[in-house]
Amino acid sequence: MSWVELRKPWHDTSVDYCDVCGNLLIHEYWEFNAGGEIMRACREDDEQLWARLETFRATYPSTTENSIYRARLTDTKFPQAKE
Ligand SMILES: [Zn+2]
Repeated sequence: MSWVELRKPWHDTSVDYCDVCGNLLIHEYWEFNAGGEIMRACREDDEQLWARLETFRATYPSTTENSIYRARLTDTKFPQAKE
């Protein structure tokens, strides 16, 4: 849980994004440990946001339980992906 300078060679044109909200990381990022995984965030508050999202994910239905998945299996008019 600390600010880390984003160091890159001058010719590196790649861009880095916040692991929590997707904003661009510029000059520095907030680094924190999320269950053993090192996360890079654009602001300190994103660490709390990450924790809230984890709580939300734990209560959200899995992809095999949502209405779109069920409709794909049971609704004959539901658009099917071409092979
Ligand atoms: Zn962010």
